[in-house]
Amino acid sequence: MNETIDKTAGTTRSTAQWQAADAAHFLHPFTDFKSLAQQGSRIITRADNIYLWDNDGHKILDAMSGLWCVNVGYGQRALIDAATRQMGELPFYNAFFQTATPPAIELAELLAAVSPPTFQHVFFSGSGSEGNDTVVRMVRRYWDILGQPQRQVIISRLNAYHGSTMAGASLGGMGGMHAQGGLPIPDITHIEQPHWWEHGRPKGLSREEFGRVAAGWLEDKILEVGADKVAAFIGEPVQGAGGVIVPPDSYWPEIQRICDKYGVLLVSDEVICGFGRTGHWFGCERFGYKPDLMTFAKGVTSGYVPLGGVMVGERIARVLIDQGGEFNHGYTYSGHPVACAVAVANIRLIQQLDLVTQVRDDTGPYLAAQFEALAAHPLAGETQSCGLMGGVQLVKDKAKGTPFAAEVDIGMVCRGHCFANGLIMRAVGDRMIIAPPLVMTRAQIDEMMVLIHRCLDLTLADAQRDGWLA
Ligand SMILES: *Cc1c(COP(=O)(O)O)cnc(C)c1O
Repeated sequence: MNETIDKTAGTTRSTAQWQAADAAHFLHPFTDFKSLAQQGSRIITRADNIYLWDNDGHKILDAMSGLWCVNVGYGQRALIDAATRQMGELPFYNAFFQTATPPAIELAELLAAVSPPTFQHVFFSGSGSEGNDTVVRMVRRYWDILGQPQRQVIISRLNAYHGSTMAGASLGGMGGMHAQGGLPIPDITHIEQPHWWEHGRPKGLSREEFGRVAAGWLEDKILEVGADKVAAFIGEPVQGAGGVIVPPDSYWPEIQRICDKYGVLLVSDEVICGFGRTGHWFGCERFGYKPDLMTFAKGVTSGYVPLGGVMVGERIARVLIDQGGEFNHGYTYSGHPVACAVAVANIRLIQQLDLVTQVRDDTGPYLAAQFEALAAHPLAGETQSCGLMGGVQLVKDKAKGTPFAAEVDIGMVCRGHCFANGLIMRAVGDRMIIAPPLVMTRAQIDEMMVLIHRCLDLTLADAQRDGWLA
């Protein structure tokens, strides 16, 4: 399927030389700079399909799709050619001066075609964080135009991830992020997440009943704030960075009912769940709700170039277009022609390969069965999957569900074994997560599961040896 990539072409410097220059000049995102400088970065130099190679030639199975984004896998000629062609024809032009470029128009048209019917318009940004900044501006503007400027408050959830700009990090519910830089910004508030495991698997409540209880926290918050002050609720269909937290099926329909009851706008952050990840084009379709806005990024270009944006449903679009006048918001790279050309090629490739159906009917259920089997592992407290993403909660005592002691970073131990064994899995606290490329085959899922079992076994051996299970 892919053109051959030359795996013999080495880079110009040794790994140690790259690491030294990296430590001297490059401040990495979400990183303890000092400790990384001591340890040295892993230098990744090449990729093809679902595999990466580091500078020393080690092959690594990328079970995280880069960072949740390389949905069509690495090395896809159609995307590379689209970028090259567009770079030659028109590398950049803006959309501010009552101007537009063909790739941006084509992408807008294609996004409207693959989105649920209410989405006929799109606002482009350069990333998911910027997309969520646009969401904040847009929902507040919407209520202003409708003569309800007091509707300012946006409700989100703890342990949500909505990006790292001021608005994105405020919408997110990550305590570590709020602790730095005076966040959240005003009029953003949070409710608890629908995390069955974290809530101690409440006795006497089925999963589905728990889902309705968790949705009820939104109604409590709306009443606490005052329904006439609430602009919108935002959530990820499945919380990704929070640890692949798959809500009970009862959760989202109840959230929808509550939003409708109080006229509150519903925003689906589809940055991870969009473009086939859950076996549907968008996660809201998997969980059966109809948002007014959808944020997207990551999988829209399979990460080949940066692009994000917001799909705007008719309820909001009609008000902005028919009554709004000028919307004083936008980015230099809103509708960047090269990014849009790559996104068009990416979406067409997803359609040609029928990846969304493949995940829904074949590889998604196959992964789910493997994850159910993985639940028998002595360290696995809970396993969850949805489409091609999954999480395993590592516990000290499986029967009682007891977590490891706070000083044991079991996730980092397990992640270390993964890297050493040629597998990229991410650790979120004590939860190990995956989100592999959607082109992954059944045989490749088998290959990944062998590595996952091996790394859990090695982690268990460490725990036994060092007395962490006592
Ligand atoms: C990654 C992510 C974002 C932020 O996207 P960036 O492109 O990193 O700014 C927002 N929302 C969700 C759900 C994400 O996973």
